[in-house]
Amino acid sequence: MIERSWQNWAGNQHAYPSYRAEPSSVDELRVVLQAAVDQSRSVRCVGAGHSFTPIAVTDGVQINLDSLRGIESVVRADDGSARVTVLAGTRLRELTALLWDLGLAMTNLGDIDEQSVAGAISTGTHGTGARFGGIATQVHAIELMTADGQPVRCSRDENVELFSAARIGLGALGVITRVTLDCVPAFALRAVEEPSTLRGTLDGLDETVAGVDHFEFYWFPHTDRVLTKRNTRLPGETALRPLGKVRSYIDDELLSNTVFEGLNRMVTRAPALIPRLNAVSARALSAREYTDRSYRVFASSRTVKFVEMEYAVPASEIGWVLREVDRWLERSALSIAFPVEVRFAAADDIWLSTAYGRPTAYIAVHQYHRRDHREYFGAVEAVCRSVGGRPHWGKLHSLGSAELRGSYEHFDDFVRIRSSLDPTQLFGSNYLGHLLS
Ligand SMILES: Cc1cc2nc3c(=O)[nH]c(=O)nc-3n(C[C@H](O)[C@H](O)[C@H](O)COP(=O)(O)OP(=O)(O)OC[C@H]3O[C@@H](n4cnc5c(N)ncnc54)[C@H](O)[C@@H]3O)c2cc1C
Repeated sequence: MIERSWQNWAGNQHAYPSYRAEPSSVDELRVVLQAAVDQSRSVRCVGAGHSFTPIAVTDGVQINLDSLRGIESVVRADDGSARVTVLAGTRLRELTALLWDLGLAMTNLGDIDEQSVAGAISTGTHGTGARFGGIATQVHAIELMTADGQPVRCSRDENVELFSAARIGLGALGVITRVTLDCVPAFALRAVEEPSTLRGTLDGLDETVAGVDHFEFYWFPHTDRVLTKRNTRLPGETALRPLGKVRSYIDDELLSNTVFEGLNRMVTRAPALIPRLNAVSARALSAREYTDRSYRVFASSRTVKFVEMEYAVPASEIGWVLREVDRWLERSALSIAFPVEVRFAAADDIWLSTAYGRPTAYIAVHQYHRRDHREYFGAVEAVCRSVGGRPHWGKLHSLGSAELRGSYEHFDDFVRIRSSLDPTQLFGSNYLGHLLS
């Protein structure tokens, strides 16, 4: 018996679906969909529940594909790349390890790997790297089960319009059952992490972003301090020099997670301490360098619970955006303990991609789950919107269909495809209505 109540990772979204289903085959999935139609219930899919918005919330039928996992086929090309078809419920963590054993890798990843493949692509999950797109850009083909229970395939060469919509489809077009990914030969990453200043980082930003395969930085609010991360791609057979167990435990588990949780509990009671603590934390971070399998460098564990908003802005605007946020913080009475994360991505052609049609910089702001995020997120959102920012589909924001329509050239094409595939909005919800009406 599956427990009916559900909450997301951050604990800020709750649902009480009338029924939760975990089909273990595509045929079983069809039966679940038919039953929902017969009972006039709506349906939402859920992956790992790592979105911060109500995008997976439903009071109808909630479907997870945890029993539809694993690699189905691998078609190799002469250059060492391969098309890998996976069942949509496969978690990125298991997929990347399986790929490594096959001599393959995903070319870019976000900063965690808990998500399901379908969930990650459906909201436009991305990592960093000016030459690289988000995870959905690595998709070659998708198989969906639509509202009528029929499987539909779309790819770069087949049902091309649907493919443009379905790669970042918000769970609004049907249930993704299979995804074919364009994978590259396994590679290692050399990671160089070091403290720097915001001013210095912004001064040389264009060259750094263009010259480093995967560049990102974390800015400590109320200070001029940043932590930069430069990841360089190396052949898979490179000798690995991972962080020692003790160092990685101290840095990642203790300093980033356990100590950070303690600090957040403390500053929730005494926020005035934050600016000084941020300055101390930024200085306490020492440089480190290591080389490991690509997926181990891209992703790390996050145990401190937070809520997050992330905006995609034109890459050329990121310096101005950060300075504006800094100016706003100086004027405001708020103190922010979480570093602001800044990442980059190449322009792409996916209709609802936050990087559609323009080289993109991402600014992600976080707030400890026990503290109020609204004033801070609202202020950052206003700055980002003033330069045409687009919100991440899986992270908090205040926009509805009116603003979103103006942000995406193909918004109405997406709505048209949705209406033709799902005229009765079987895959609808209040939240999707707010986004897509
Ligand atoms: C700690 C943390 C770190 C994160 N780091 C990053 C990051 O580095 N980069 C980034 O871009 N994002 C990041 N995110 C956001 C996260 O990647 C996205 O919200 C992602 O969508 C979550 O995947 P999921 O499997 O949990 O999907 P869910 O959140 O469960 O669902 C997301 C959407 O996918 C749909 N969906 C799920 N399965 C299917 C299916 N089979 N068919 C059709 N639709 C489906 C759902 O209906 C929903 O609309 C992070 C989130 C957290 C909590």
